[in-house]
Order: sequence, then C-alpha cells, then structure tokens
Amino acid sequence: MITRSADIILHNACIYTMDQNNTIKQAIAIKEGYIIATGSNDEIQQYACDTTKQIDLQGQMVIPGIIDSHLHPFWGGQQLANCSLEYRELTLQETLNYIQKHLDNDPLTGENDWFQVRAWLRSAMLPPGTDITRADLDTLNSKRPIIVFANDCHTLVANSRALTLFGLDESTPEPADGKLGRTADGKLNGILEDAPAMRAYDSIPPLSKEQNAIIADNVQKVLNRQGVTTVFDARLLTVQLDAFGELKRQNKLNLRYIGAKEITPDDVIAPENAAATLQNVVQFAKKYTTNVMTPSPEISISSIKLFVDGVLQAPMMTASLLQPYRENKGSETHPDWQPSERYGDLYFPIDVLNAIVNETAKVGLDIHLHTVGDGAIEVMLDAVASMRKDFPNKDIRPAFAHNELVAPHQFKRFADLNATAVLSFQWAAMPEMIIHEEELLLGKERSQYLEPAGRFIDAGARISYGSDWPIDKLDQWYNFQVGVTRTGRAPVGDKGFRLANDRDLSITELLRAITIDAAYVLHMEKYIGSLEENKFADLIVLDRNLFEIDKFEIENTNVLMTMVGGNIVHQSNED
Ligand SMILES: [Zn+2]
Repeated sequence: MITRSADIILHNACIYTMDQNNTIKQAIAIKEGYIIATGSNDEIQQYACDTTKQIDLQGQMVIPGIIDSHLHPFWGGQQLANCSLEYRELTLQETLNYIQKHLDNDPLTGENDWFQVRAWLRSAMLPPGTDITRADLDTLNSKRPIIVFANDCHTLVANSRALTLFGLDESTPEPADGKLGRTADGKLNGILEDAPAMRAYDSIPPLSKEQNAIIADNVQKVLNRQGVTTVFDARLLTVQLDAFGELKRQNKLNLRYIGAKEITPDDVIAPENAAATLQNVVQFAKKYTTNVMTPSPEISISSIKLFVDGVLQAPMMTASLLQPYRENKGSETHPDWQPSERYGDLYFPIDVLNAIVNETAKVGLDIHLHTVGDGAIEVMLDAVASMRKDFPNKDIRPAFAHNELVAPHQFKRFADLNATAVLSFQWAAMPEMIIHEEELLLGKERSQYLEPAGRFIDAGARISYGSDWPIDKLDQWYNFQVGVTRTGRAPVGDKGFRLANDRDLSITELLRAITIDAAYVLHMEKYIGSLEENKFADLIVLDRNLFEIDKFEIENTNVLMTMVGGNIVHQSNED
C-alpha cells in the first residue's frame, strides 16, 4: 500500500484552489511534488507524520502559481543583464553611479564577462558638452571589460581593459574611416567613432552557453519572485532553449518552460509548403522537448507562432483592420478625420494561413497567434473555423494574443470556436493622450472595442493572461491591478485615466485568467492551474488577500513564497 503521509503540509491558510467552483480551503498536503489532498486543517492533519514539514500560513492567501501565457523571457533576461541608460539626461557622476549599480547587480560576474552599457544619448549629458572617457570608466569598481555604446551606434567608449582586448593602444595608427579619441598627450581616451567603434563592437564575443544559462537562471529567479511558475515563450529560438536546457541538465530549472516555434512567411511560400514546414517544427519540438509531465519542471514546445499582423499605433498602423484607418484630410488647426485607403497589413496570404492552421492541427500542435487588429482576428477565426470542420475531434487550443481592436461580432466567435484570447491587461492603462490619438485613428464607435477583456467573458469566451515582457517592464501585480481597474498609474495625483469602454474583470476572473484558464490554453490543465488532488504543487503565498484590499493596492502585493512541483523556489524575508 502506498503511504499517504505528506512531505509538506500548508495549513491555517486561505487557499483559493481555482477548481471548477473556486472552492476555498484551509490546508493542503503535498507529497513528492504532487498535491495529495486539500481540505480543512483537521482533515489535512491526517496526512501528517514525524517527517512532515508543517507550514502555518497564519491566514495568508494562497493561489496556484501564475502562468504567464505570452512573454519573451530570455529576451527579457538579456535586458536585465548589463545596463541601459535609457537615453537619460545625466551628469557624468550620475552616469557612473548608474553603471556601477548595474554592475553590482549583474547576473554575470566573471572577470572576462563583457559589460555593455547601451542607449547612451551622448548629446544629453549634463552639463552640455560633457563626455565619458576611458579614465572615467576606469574609476568603476570592476575588473571587467566595459563599453558604453551610444544610441546612434556610431560612438563607443571603452575602459582600459576593453581597449586592450580590442587590440588598441597609443601606437595604433589613426584609421581613415573614423576616429580614435586621444588625450592631449596622444594616449587613447577610449572614445571610438564610426568604423573603429563598429569594428570593436563586432569583435565582442557572443555570450557562451554557460553565460546564457546564467541569464536564464536570473530570469527564473525574477519570475519566481513575482509568483510565476510557468511561462509560455511566444517565440522560441535555439539560444534560449539551450540556455534553459542547460539549467534543466544542471537540475536547476525552477520554471515550467513551454513555448512556440515561429513559422515565418518565408517558411511557407505557398499552401503546399505547409506540410513540410510543420514536419520540420515537429522535429525541432522533438529535439528540445524534455517531456514527460512530472512535478519537476520540463521544457516543451507545444505550439507554432504566427505574426499575422503588426501594430495599431501611428505611424506604423500595420495592424490589419476590417474597416480602414482614418486620416486627417484637413489641417492641423482644422482637422477633418476621414476614412483612408489603409487597412493595415496581413503578413501571410490567406490560403497560406489556412494551410498552416490545418497542417498544425494534423500534427497535433497548438496555434499561438499575434493578432492585434480585427482584420487579422477575422482571418484567423475563419481559418480556425475551417480547421474545426476538417478535424472535429482534434483537441486543438488556438490562442489569439493581443486582440487590441476586436469587432463586436467576434467575441462570440471566440466562444463558439473555443479560441482563447491571451491579453496583456496593462495595455488598457494607456495614457489618455494615446487613447485620444487612437480614437481619432479609429473613430469613436470602434474605440469602444479597444483592449477588451470583460467583453470576451460576457460572450462566453475564455481569456488568459500574458505579460509580453519585455515589451513592458516586468510588473505582474501592476498588470493584474489594471485587469481589475482598467486604470493606469497617474503621471500626477493618485489614479490615472480609466479606459471605460469595457467593464473591469472581477478578482475571480483575473485569478482564473492567470491560472487555470492559462493552463487550459497550454494544454496543461490536468497538471497545473488549480490546487486539486493529483496535480503538481505549484502555488504561491501572498502577503495580502486580493479580495479584501482596495483594488489599487494590488500592485504592492508581495509574493511571500513560490513553490514549483513541491519545491520552494522563492521565499521572501520581509513579512
Ligand atoms: Zn509578444
């Protein structure tokens, strides 16, 4: 007989299980990474034995681990590494302090690890005319080669170590295609301009597999800290698969890592190419999927990704629309907004999209789509409808990500076709000025359907959440707050502008979108997304109960503990 004694019992908690009825429980018993029971404190104590680790949560809120179902975690990790000056206006000392702070927090620490400072706006240094030189960078507390790269990509400043590695010194002859900055006594001052800057930059070695794994490790720590236990990488490349794969090999993977392989228009030039392309994806998925669903995190490639259209905002206006964008046919002072000829762009021919969707269903992969405008959404809903007709018994779970402008009739189509809308809730928190610009571009009527969320649920469709980090800063609890308020941070004052064209989500709807409904769209609801018997113990403990606080406090939520497959991967010291 199997012993039913628990490894860990969490008790005296307020556990929102997110099961079918959103049941709340007091305690949970965990064994070998699985949830073996949930119930009252008394019921769960039956699973205790001498070796059981008992954790008294003193009434804290517990929910399933967050499933972020659209983001770019490795790309985000690369941005967390090194340093961006973000085009700021800074004095020399402020610049150096800022760089030092990032050096001190950099995930890479080796003496030979290059440290790159980007987005330096040379002309914005204060007071005007101030420059950074090698001597300044040499004052930083680091032995690493350091470069500061200007936003114009023509100017680079190197510290002494970097200059040596570039093979440059005072005896280097003056190049014809650019300039090596020098001090009054002829020594290099570290400033390289034009071709020498580009040559130097190109000679910096790419990060090694080990360095990439360190970046991936930092990513999972940052995500675990905010309560994320599963990610869906919306565009997998081999570099990130290798990096997270290295963590898996080292037995250090603390995040379930699922993702999509992109298919580009070049991969499928005509509908008859779709089948061969999908075979390639299947091979690629086989190579990297570590598979077997166990409590310990795995890597898997479950979907294909298509960029169906572009973005809504002017001046790009590449999101595909059913009705044309409007343009100002009057003047600046006497505007006259009228429909233009522009409908945005569809990046694939429609017959190719249909073929890809059908072939994807045939091989049993899911479909993850970048669809911003209602034109792209319509084309893909049609493709999914035809796929459903051809493969009525296949359990395919199409995910439409972004959906910034949805036509009124489409919400019900999502429901009817069992397609999930993957939403980045924070996008409803646009500044009033941008909303106003979009209203001009789209007209008042269509603007009622900008950044919808509740409208999907009201039509019977499922929504899930994706942060899309690093398109926006990684700030999950702020994003959740916007989901239930549709209100951004104010530039001044306490609250920002509310996008009042849709209702707020309820807390329960929010919680389902970030847990069980996200698990569903990833085809993983049997294992994760709710706290029920036989599922993996992926859960988080919060420092406040979201149902009991002011909604505008949600952004301050601290995750006290994150557990993945029964392992505590993050624990906060502050209480
Ligand atoms: Zn994205």
